[in-house]
Amino acid sequence: MDNYTNNTEDVCSEFTPENTPHYFTVVLQWSYLIMLLYFLCFMVYAFYFGYINSCLGSIPWAAMCGIGFYVTKTRPSRHNLFYYTLLLLSWLVLFVCTYGWDCGGQHFIMPLLVIAFFSVYDTMGRKLLFLGILFGLRLYLFFYCLNNEPMIILETVPSELLQILNTAFIFIQMAFVCMIFSTNIQKAEKQLLIYNEELQKQACTDPLTALPNRRYMMDILEEQIRSRPKSVFSVALGDIDWFKKINDTQGHICGDEVLRKLSVLFKEKSCGKGHVCRWGGEEFFFFLPDMNLDDASLFINDINIAVSQLPIVYKDEKIRVTMTFGVEEYDYHSSLTDLIKKADDKLYLGKKQGRNKVIF
Ligand code: GH3
Ligand code: MG
Ligand code: MG
Repeated sequence: MDNYTNNTEDVCSEFTPENTPHYFTVVLQWSYLIMLLYFLCFMVYAFYFGYINSCLGSIPWAAMCGIGFYVTKTRPSRHNLFYYTLLLLSWLVLFVCTYGWDCGGQHFIMPLLVIAFFSVYDTMGRKLLFLGILFGLRLYLFFYCLNNEPMIILETVPSELLQILNTAFIFIQMAFVCMIFSTNIQKAEKQLLIYNEELQKQACTDPLTALPNRRYMMDILEEQIRSRPKSVFSVALGDIDWFKKINDTQGHICGDEVLRKLSVLFKEKSCGKGHVCRWGGEEFFFFLPDMNLDDASLFINDINIAVSQLPIVYKDEKIRVTMTFGVEEYDYHSSLTDLIKKADDKLYLGKKQGRNKVIF
């Protein structure tokens, strides 16, 4: 409960009556329109049964609905909600006192409750207070009607018709309000899911090469060791030889192009056999499940040859690159950090031995 209240307070602090979502204004506008229609129907009803005073008396309420609808566009949401609440409550009090409890006017409290609880900028405390006030008012009206005769005592048919009219409009009102709120919640949740997926994807992807990044690779390696601790696998770390020279002579954009071309090659070669990621800078990391050191070395050797033969053309110039790799097999007890360090040491050894090599 505490957590929930805290969360509500947090959400409320994000919204003010001025920046309340548009759908809240739409709910109030529809509510005014429905109530306007209700008052028009009520006027016809009262006129038909000869209650001329009631007919004329409801004209100001209809007019106030029109004004309410108009001001929703110009006033802050808190004012609009306050005005709407005042309008509906004063109507239902007057109505119940005039026609009695049996005509069902008191049920107009229900849509009011729903609207008030969805007013995003208000705190849960205030909403509960509002709930208490409405509850108190309803009880008061009930006991008032028990002890006082209504001002107008209707005959059976007009009474039933009024009950039907009220019930119909309360249902229409509730249906509209709930429909707009629930549609918006569904829309917002769907949007949130899409954003989450997109964020997740972005957090795991290298923007330049579109390969998975180091974070993603570490996750799948940890998962591999956790879920299949006794399975064979190898890893390889590869680094482009003399990459700085490419940047220095051809420019950074050319360097980026080389990284992208190599990434496409790695993706093709690893498809169905292993996973590759951009480890950082001009380094790439391979995770090769179900491959022992011999299998992995053959696989990486094949990639190394493909790299050295890869035709990269930038501004009509052919660029050739080579890479150096360190390959290591998982020994079932080393930590991930140690495993990667061993592959890195072998890579370093390859660089020292003249580059364009696979050390295993
Ligand atoms: P070695 O054979 O010893 O690995 O030499 P190297 O020149 O490849 O190594 P060094 O570490 O000196 O240089 C790596 C260069 O990679 C330096 C850095 O500017 C470049 N680099 C890192 N990330 C990017 C990138 O995203 N785009 C480009 N164009 N260059 C990058
Ligand atoms: Mg390098
Ligand atoms: Mg490097």
